[in-house]
Amino acid sequence: MFDKILIANRGEIALRVIRACREMGIQSVAVHSTADADAMHVRMADESVCIGPPSGTHSYLSIPAIISACEITGAQAIHPGYGFLSENANFVQIVEDHGLTFIGPTAEHIRVMGDKITAKDTMKDLGVPCVPGSDGGVPDLETAKKIGEDIGYPVIIKATAGGGGRGMKVAKTAADMEQAFMTACAEGKAAFGNDEVYIEKYLTTPRHIEIQVFGDGKGKAVHLGERDCSLQRRHQKVFEEAPGPCITPEERARIGKTCAEAVAKINYIGAGTIEFLYEKGEFYFIEMNTRLQVEHPVTESIFGVDLVREQIRVAEGLPMSFSQDDLEINGHSIEVRINAEKLPNFSPCPGRITQYHAPGGLGVRMDSALYDGYSIPPYYDSLIGKLIVHGRDRPEALARLSRALGELIVDGVDTTVPLFHALLEEKDIHTGEYNIHWLEHWLETNLGNA
Ligand code: ADP
Repeated sequence: MFDKILIANRGEIALRVIRACREMGIQSVAVHSTADADAMHVRMADESVCIGPPSGTHSYLSIPAIISACEITGAQAIHPGYGFLSENANFVQIVEDHGLTFIGPTAEHIRVMGDKITAKDTMKDLGVPCVPGSDGGVPDLETAKKIGEDIGYPVIIKATAGGGGRGMKVAKTAADMEQAFMTACAEGKAAFGNDEVYIEKYLTTPRHIEIQVFGDGKGKAVHLGERDCSLQRRHQKVFEEAPGPCITPEERARIGKTCAEAVAKINYIGAGTIEFLYEKGEFYFIEMNTRLQVEHPVTESIFGVDLVREQIRVAEGLPMSFSQDDLEINGHSIEVRINAEKLPNFSPCPGRITQYHAPGGLGVRMDSALYDGYSIPPYYDSLIGKLIVHGRDRPEALARLSRALGELIVDGVDTTVPLFHALLEEKDIHTGEYNIHWLEHWLETNLGNA
């Protein structure tokens, strides 16, 4: 049993992990940059260690500082949260070399899934359906043009090392190929130090459907249904729900089983998400995230499980506390991501919170590290809170979301809350008829946002 866990993260996700630790009787250690000395995760943890200056590179991404913080405090395990070092295979290796436990998958699984080409090859071999496209990397423009002709336009050129929506370019016709190919290579090189790209058929009206999986590392794995995260801006999710409004129980059972079997076969340990594009009843694998996702609470709400607690259990070598048969969907859940950003351009808006009031009541969960008088530092992601609601069905969840948004007070900075009030006025949101392009079109029409 772990006595003490260090959380190599900040903000709401650090609180999320601290809360799970406390309920399990495990001591928690927060790490923080000098800019975060007054942050909520530092206040809430049992102990804290300053690991560097404001810049993430020199603090939350500083592997030596984090390992030292474990040594100083006697923490036996590290929970990485999401972002920062959560999908860094090298970090996992170093953690293990120091006799510490990484709460997450193995370095090898992170490495395989972190490279989009090996991820796709692995999934294909495991029987997971993939988007038609190039067989691995595309070496030059001539080959790219040939593949474009073969699979048919439109196509999308993607950086192998890409992430966060960067390094992807669409070629609508053969005439666009040269520019799209060159730009994707250049973006991959600039952002990830790797200019290798591959090509996929570009699906024009898909939904983003992702399957939550969980493995014990010993050949046992389950799936916890899907999340629909189709409402995206610049390939970033802003509104997520479970179950997906368009997925039938048969589809869920079929794709869920495929995913659970795939991760069981590779002895995957902990939480993982297999992301698909879904169009006309077909699922197409795009990538796997080997960590806890920002949107994990909607899955927790409908299944009544604590995914962080489960991550800690399997990292300790304990069995999962549920089997596939125990997992039954109860109601509907929606999460909205609240960012400190100014509309219509979503420009970051750090600053001092003069007043904060979280919504409450039946079926409402607010995951946020805000408090009255807190100053949001300008150095990190602009996510300041996640509002998660749960209802008996989708209409109830939507009504509850509207009610809870109305109760939320965040004064002192601009936030994306008005966007959600406006979206809740839209018929398509209520019917659930939207795809991955819906929000971009809406923003263009309603806010003049390009
Ligand atoms: P990242 O790792 O940068 O998040 P993904 O491969 O997960 O990249 O893709 C992010 C988003 O890009 C998807 O949710 C979808 O909106 C869009 N996308 C990716 N691949 C395709 C495709 N083949 N056709 C259409 N849209 C795509």
